[in-house]
Amino acid sequence: MSAVLHLDDLRVPVETGGGSRKARLTIEADGSLRLRAAEDVATDELRQFLASKREWVYRKLAEKEVLQHEPVTKELVDGEGFLYLGRSYRLKLAEGAGAVRLDRGRLVLPSSLAPTGEAHLIAWYQRCGEMWLRPRVRSWAERLRVEPGVIEVADLGHRWGSANGGRRVRIHWATLQLSPQLVDYVVAHELAHLREAHHGPAFWQVLARAMPDYDERKRKLAQRGARLWFGGTL
Ligand SMILES: [Zn+2]
Repeated sequence: MSAVLHLDDLRVPVETGGGSRKARLTIEADGSLRLRAAEDVATDELRQFLASKREWVYRKLAEKEVLQHEPVTKELVDGEGFLYLGRSYRLKLAEGAGAVRLDRGRLVLPSSLAPTGEAHLIAWYQRCGEMWLRPRVRSWAERLRVEPGVIEVADLGHRWGSANGGRRVRIHWATLQLSPQLVDYVVAHELAHLREAHHGPAFWQVLARAMPDYDERKRKLAQRGARLWFGGTL
């Protein structure tokens, strides 16, 4: 039996042995999946079992708000694709100086920045992201009746966003690769935390009032989020 199965992009290591014949799928605290089964269960049977758990897995991962993915790496060469607000842009290495920018449908990386291209691309997501988010945050804040302080786009490790008692709202730069609909979900979710710190029923009620289809967006986020770039170049 192969030691690792896959559910879409998710890796699922299989552990065999133990007393129970019934397969058991668990999600660890860090969002990793593990499948336990008796030695004599056929791989096909386990695959089917796993497939039947798809919805459950994505729902759970969305609840945990963790990202579980095979890391996506980029090559900083002409034609490499980068997502911004749900659209794909090809990278173009250009002679000369200047800043990273979108120009006629291309994401332009000046050659003077190429040696540290990754950092410059991430800085570009942060810069554009902060500008794009400002009016967005304002309008969701109104709907949620909260008054956020500073909005920052930063590297938040494996969290999409964070909000704290100091009213500072932070959004991961990688979030800006998602469609506006899903970025809005992250924004509204974090703003809702300014009213309810924890993910109890009150929290989801606050969010649902401002964003009735939040649940669907949350599920999409768990799926699409797994395919984003979080830094890392070849
Ligand atoms: Zn949350």
